Amino acid sequence: MFDHPDFDDHEGVHVFSDPKTGLRAIIAVHNTNRGPSAGGTRFWSYADPKHAMTDALRLSKAMSFKNAMAGLDLGGGKGVILRPEGDFDREALFAAYGRAVEAVGGRYITAEDVGVSPNDMRVIKTQTDYVAGLDEGPAASGDPSPVTADGVFRGMKVAVLHAKGLESLKGLTVAVQGLGHVGYALCGHLHDAGAHLIVADINAEVLEQAKQAFGAVVVKPDAIHAVEADIYAPCALGGAVSKATLPDIRASIIAGAANNQLATPDMAEACRKRGILYAPDYVINGGGIINVAAEVSGHYDKAWVDNKLAGLESTLKVIFEQASEQEVATTVVADKMARERLGV
Ligand code: NAD
Repeated sequence: MFDHPDFDDHEGVHVFSDPKTGLRAIIAVHNTNRGPSAGGTRFWSYADPKHAMTDALRLSKAMSFKNAMAGLDLGGGKGVILRPEGDFDREALFAAYGRAVEAVGGRYITAEDVGVSPNDMRVIKTQTDYVAGLDEGPAASGDPSPVTADGVFRGMKVAVLHAKGLESLKGLTVAVQGLGHVGYALCGHLHDAGAHLIVADINAEVLEQAKQAFGAVVVKPDAIHAVEADIYAPCALGGAVSKATLPDIRASIIAGAANNQLATPDMAEACRKRGILYAPDYVINGGGIINVAAEVSGHYDKAWVDNKLAGLESTLKVIFEQASEQEVATTVVADKMARERLGV
């Protein structure tokens, strides 16, 4: 473990096995300097358990950075459940996982991530209080996606002001990759702001909806990054900006919701060299965890959430300004700020 390429002095890496329910899970606590670690649980079919460990290590570290940049008193952690092969009792599995979360003793608070629903959170809640993203309860915050979309939209405006000197997105063209929970809500904001939309998804139904609701132009998934646009917004999977795609990207701003947008860290400098302003993903997509943090505090306060979203805007502005002044990639400034805030 200590030699694992993604091990970054994680405070704790907990491995759980419960043959009765088929649970095999990892909870990685990266850093708790700012508070108990928080981050979603991913439920995924891994071809190799090693990939689950890689995900847990990488994603928990990313959560430390994201939570610090969002100004939250939370550390970074992540849960990963390896989806059992064949039939399994989902409720029993998530109850067993809830006991695993409880066993970490409050140093990790879970919420939804890929493959996990508010209903799964409800089951986890039967075993532990260290859970958020609930649909019901005194401080329930529900689906974080609309708040993530709001944060990305605000961040785009900051990027447009910095890169183009424009106060609004009116008349600009935004290429949105992925019209899921976040991407579709983001399109709503962009449409309301008078932006033109070019979109791609692998789900035909949602594309038709976007055509009807926003007058969006639809392109094939493998073409979206290369369309003529002012902003490219990756809102699907990770790795949207790679050696293969970057040469074809025509937008001068990359700002989206997806985690791990850069296939490799050197893509940040490559963007800068091509005159593309890249909004670091773990800063611009912090809206969802801000929403979750409001629930963790025990009292959901919309004004507090708004205030933290405004904080994200200021942070992005500083990152863009410092990166321009120092002629470095935006991630150089953002990573340094995150490490300072984490005290590492
Ligand atoms: P989602 O699963 O609801 O949406 C993803 C969408 O991408 C789906 O509509 C899917 O069909 C589409 N898609 C998949 N492969 C594609 C491809 N090759 N080309 C185009 N579209 C493709 O997920 P989401 O909750 O909207 O999250 C989107 C991204 O934002 C993810 O990377 C997620 O990790 C990240 N994120 C989400 C939140 C949140 O609050 N939901 C917060 C922070 C970061």
